[in-house]
Amino acid sequence: MASSEPVGIVVCGAAGRMGRLLVALGSQDPSLRVAGAVEAPAHALLGSDAGAVAGVGPLGIALVDALAPVCRPEHVIVDFTGVPAATLANARLAAERGAGLVVGTTGFTAAEDAELRGLATRTRSVVAANFSVGVTVLLALVAQAATLLDGSFESEIVELHHDRKKDAPSGTALALGRAVAAARGQDFASAAVLAREGQVGARRPDEIGIVALRAGDAVGDHTVLFGGLGERVELIHRAQSRECLVRGALRAAAWVGHRPPGLYGMRDVLGLPA
Ligand code: NAD
Repeated sequence: MASSEPVGIVVCGAAGRMGRLLVALGSQDPSLRVAGAVEAPAHALLGSDAGAVAGVGPLGIALVDALAPVCRPEHVIVDFTGVPAATLANARLAAERGAGLVVGTTGFTAAEDAELRGLATRTRSVVAANFSVGVTVLLALVAQAATLLDGSFESEIVELHHDRKKDAPSGTALALGRAVAAARGQDFASAAVLAREGQVGARRPDEIGIVALRAGDAVGDHTVLFGGLGERVELIHRAQSRECLVRGALRAAAWVGHRPPGLYGMRDVLGLPA
């Protein structure tokens, strides 16, 4: 495909909170065109026009209940279904057909995450727990802070999301925890403490605690705290609307549509140093 041609995206989860905005903003982006829209089997809006559902007027693209008929090698499949099993099935199909893949769904188990990354490396893909420019930079800043502040600065993460969010802690909070652990040469799985209750005793110096708050319509706040003696450093990102996440995912789709096969991250999309 010529690099000047718009990339055709197929949005999976197209009637969801992220999906509707992906269709709406994707249809207005000259580097993209909405080529398909998939929803869950038995969803009440199946058959409706995806653009009408997204509030931008008819696009001539009906919401369908399966990816297979609309999954072509030249397309990029953009998955925000929020259902890991559905995402894995979509990734399998994209890998088989050589279609591009952008995955925003979070909440995978470690085994599911490994399977997803294995499938994603077989085609051109971007997998990110958070597509915002701000969080991509925050991940780099957190790694730098974890290196510069020695291990006597204890790291904890607090996240806040809306009351409908299914997975906890957020994929972004886990990515931030992994960034701290990697910078400090720690194994994240053994350092992570996802719950504290009762007589838990003193904090182990190597712990990385993560706390998830759920309230109202909060889009997503993340604080990474490094607590030292007599001082602390806090790095904070607040998403004020879903638009920054959707624009980042669309930027990733337009970028990866013209790339050779491989699993890329948002740092690659933004051209930030590794
Ligand atoms: P949502 O529940 O509003 O939307 C999900 C949509 O997917 C729903 O309409 C649902 O019917 C549909 N769906 C479910 N199973 C499906 C299937 N098999 N095929 C097609 N569609 C299916 O959720 P949301 O708030 O839009 O979030 C979706 C996911 O994206 C969650 O995992 C969330 O954590 C994640 N998310 C990621 C980012 C990021 O930047 N990576 C940002 C926001 C949300």
